[in-house]
Amino acid sequence: MQQFKTESKKLLDLMINSIYTNREIFLRELISNASDAVDKLYFRSLTDSSIDISRDNLAINLAYDKVARTITVSDNGIGMTKEELELNLGTIAHSDSFEFKAENAEKDTADVDIIGQFGVGFYSAFMVGKRVRVVSRSYTSDQAWAWESDGVEGFTIEAADRAECGTDVIIFLKDNTDDERYDLYCDEFGLADLVKRYSNYVRYPIKLECTVSRMKPRPEDAGSDYTPEFENISEVRTINSMIPIWKRKKSEVSDEEYAEFYKSDFHDWEDPARTISLHAEGSLTYDALLFIPAHAPEGIYTRDFKKGLALYSSNVLIMDRCEELLPDYFNFVRGVVDSQDLTLNISRETLQHNGQLKAIARRIEKKIKTELASMRDKDREAYEKLFASFGMGMKYGVYADYGVQKDLLVDLLLFYSAKHQKMITLDEYVAEMPEGQEAIYYAYGESREHLAKMPIVNAVLAKGYDVLLCNEGVDEFCMMSLGGYGGETEGAVNKPIKNVASEDLGLETEEEKAAAEAMTSENEELLGIMAEALGEKVEKVVVSAIVTDAPAVLTTEGLMTLQMAYMLRRTPGGMEDAPECRVALELNAKHPVFGTLKAAHAAGDDAKVKLFAEILYDQALLVEGLSLEDPIAFAQKITTLLK
Ligand code: ADP
Ligand code: MG
Repeated sequence: MQQFKTESKKLLDLMINSIYTNREIFLRELISNASDAVDKLYFRSLTDSSIDISRDNLAINLAYDKVARTITVSDNGIGMTKEELELNLGTIAHSDSFEFKAENAEKDTADVDIIGQFGVGFYSAFMVGKRVRVVSRSYTSDQAWAWESDGVEGFTIEAADRAECGTDVIIFLKDNTDDERYDLYCDEFGLADLVKRYSNYVRYPIKLECTVSRMKPRPEDAGSDYTPEFENISEVRTINSMIPIWKRKKSEVSDEEYAEFYKSDFHDWEDPARTISLHAEGSLTYDALLFIPAHAPEGIYTRDFKKGLALYSSNVLIMDRCEELLPDYFNFVRGVVDSQDLTLNISRETLQHNGQLKAIARRIEKKIKTELASMRDKDREAYEKLFASFGMGMKYGVYADYGVQKDLLVDLLLFYSAKHQKMITLDEYVAEMPEGQEAIYYAYGESREHLAKMPIVNAVLAKGYDVLLCNEGVDEFCMMSLGGYGGETEGAVNKPIKNVASEDLGLETEEEKAAAEAMTSENEELLGIMAEALGEKVEKVVVSAIVTDAPAVLTTEGLMTLQMAYMLRRTPGGMEDAPECRVALELNAKHPVFGTLKAAHAAGDDAKVKLFAEILYDQALLVEGLSLEDPIAFAQKITTLLK
């Protein structure tokens, strides 16, 4: 027996026990080697006419034996001589494939796609095997050799038989333990599953004997009551799909093919809303195929949801969901990125440098944005549907990370217009603002129907200004983060975005303002009693400059609106750093209730003034769609009034 070198022994132990996080990749590694071996033979045949092969016959065969507990991966590729077996499999981290690539880098290798590079993948077989036997015959020789090892001490090499050139890797599976079933993949479905997942796009056929059920031929004398009979037969089948659809030009793939691929690989029952195919060449070569689903993937708004794109390198799956490839706000996008240029780490499970990934991610983000924008403009109905599912994430994106991405996202947002009763963009809002409108208005509350009835909303609408009705928790933060919007026209001035519940709406004329101030000082005493009755709840009680049909409305000054304060109060720790909510009760001097108040005050009935103040405050809260702290007290006050 030839011993592995001492340092090799240590390395081997490390390899087998620590490099890979996932045992099942052993098959991916062996299939990748087989594919490389076949690729190399094909490449040689291009320049060496003595090699008589047809590309169509090149293949990888899988077999299993449940009794002997073996899994075999065979190829009819380049094979190895005795010396090569010793060198390639006896030396860890020696990659002949890497050398092959380097040697042939200058030549036209467009048609070969070598996967190997580190010289360690083979040893992953020892994660599941207690012994591995490799029977190989080089294309340059008539003699085959068998290499065998337990993956611990060393290996033996002896003469063997093999009819043609190529290699068989036979894994003798470890014994099952309480925790591990090493024979899990020692059957048709286990193997097929691994191939589908990791090696589906390996460019040579991967064949496996499969059990198929077929209808028995109908007997000649079968009567009219004959029911067809079925039998199971064995048939060698190609179980990988080989051609990675993302490498094909968009013009060569039908929509149906894309849809089928999307549905089967990303487990969706509905066709994607959009398919994006990207092919980049140059400093970083990659292909990407992205899908925008027609509906939200399950659990998209939960913490457990994992975003990301499948990452392939040279047709072999590296990562199922590579998170770095997608920003959070486009987390609904599914798809595949494939690049040969990635510097993988040794386990081929992660990448060494994120720079390449970042560059790809940036391109992808731009592309998604462009696609969404085109949908918004050309197929509004579909876009609205999509936005209903994914808009919330984009709104979060606007305010996440201190708003760094808001410019990218702002024109993708849709809001519900009270005026048009449909979803519009901020651009559309700004474009139809009448002369004199200085701000973009929105209202925030639990339901649109409710908001549409709010007095202040109607007061703004009466001015001829539109109001965006927002009913998602994130809206308020999104609007705050945006702060203002100018529209697409060049040189446009940013218009501030204002909640209709804020104090300085800028709706009133100077005269109206002056008149309201005059009324406020005129009724200072009355308003003072009311403010006192409300105590901490309000900062002041004033006469409103805006005419609504309600007797009173609540407004707030500064960033913190009542709605937001309510929302934060419900979030644990939410109020801790939150700015103070400065509330004003604004009275409608034209409303009969104001007359009643004045009369009560004139008659010295302070108790009535106080009761009214409290009822008006509570009522205004209810109108805003907010809940009362003490509904029983409110009911009692109304009862007092009714008596
Ligand atoms: P890598 O594939 O990264 O080079 P591996 O440990 O997987 O590293 O394989 C080491 C070397 O063994 C390969 O470079 C290749 O030369 C050789 N080898 C492995 N499997 C085969 C095979 N099926 N046919 C021919 N050569 C092989
Ligand atoms: Mg390899």
